[in-house]
Amino acid sequence: MKIGVTALGSGSRGNAFVIHSEAECLLIDAGFSRRELLNRMSGTGVDPNSIKTLLVTHEHTDHVAGMRLFCRDYDIPVCMSGGTADYLRRKQNIAHNVFEFAGGNSFESAGFRITPFQVQHDAVDPVGYILTRGGIQIGIATDLGTLDLLAKTRLGGSDILIIESNYDLDMLRNSERQLHLKRRILGRNGHLDNQATLDAFETLISPRTKLIYLVHVSTECNSYSLVRKNAEAKLRQIGRPDIALEVIEQAEPLETAWL
Ligand SMILES: [Zn+2]
Ligand SMILES: [Zn+2]
Repeated sequence: MKIGVTALGSGSRGNAFVIHSEAECLLIDAGFSRRELLNRMSGTGVDPNSIKTLLVTHEHTDHVAGMRLFCRDYDIPVCMSGGTADYLRRKQNIAHNVFEFAGGNSFESAGFRITPFQVQHDAVDPVGYILTRGGIQIGIATDLGTLDLLAKTRLGGSDILIIESNYDLDMLRNSERQLHLKRRILGRNGHLDNQATLDAFETLISPRTKLIYLVHVSTECNSYSLVRKNAEAKLRQIGRPDIALEVIEQAEPLETAWL
C-alpha cells in the first residue's frame, strides 16, 4: 500500500493537504477558496473526485475558507470536533454533511484510521490528526502554541510528520506587528516558532520517520530558506540526514510525495 501527500499550500492565508492511498484520498483543511483548491489540485494532478472526506483542524478561515462549497460540490462529509462544529454552525458556515467527534476518539474514513488529538491554539476546539493505513502513520499539527505531552505522544512514531514552524523569534520581535498580535503569536495558544519545532525533532523523530513537512511558515516573520537551512542542520546534528525534508510555501503547491 502506497501512501502519498500533496501539500496544496500552507500559511496564514490558506492551508490544505491531500493524503492519498492507492484508491481514495482525503483532504485535511480547505483553507483556500473552492476555485483555488481546484486550481491547486489540477496543478498537482489530484482528481477532486477522488477525495472522499475532509478533515478540519479548527475554525480559522485559513483552514475552512473553501470547506462549505467544496463539500457541497463533491458531496463529501466533513469531520471536525464538536466544538468546531458548534462554532461554525452558529456562524452559518457549515457543510451539509458533518461528522462530529469528541475528544480523541478514533474513527474510520476513506480507508484511513483517524485519531484526532487536542492541541493548544486560540480556537474553540482545535485538533491535530494521526492517520494510519497499511502500517504507515501520518501525524499532522498545523497550528499550536505549545507541543504538549499529548501532541508529542501522538505525533511521535509517525512515518510522515507535518508540523508547523511558524516564526523566527527575532524576526517576530523586530516586526512591525502590533504588540497584542505579537503576544498572541508568542503565547502558549499561538504558534510554534522555528526553535520549538527544531527542539521537537528530538522527541518526535523515531527510526520510522521518513518525511517531514514544515508548514504554516510566516511570510513576514520567517523565511523559507532559513527554515530549511536550520532544519537540515538539525537533521545532520541528530544523525538523520536521510529524512526527506520539505518546507511548504503559501503561494505554490508541492508535487505529491509517495511512501
Ligand atoms: Zn492557521
Ligand atoms: Zn489557527
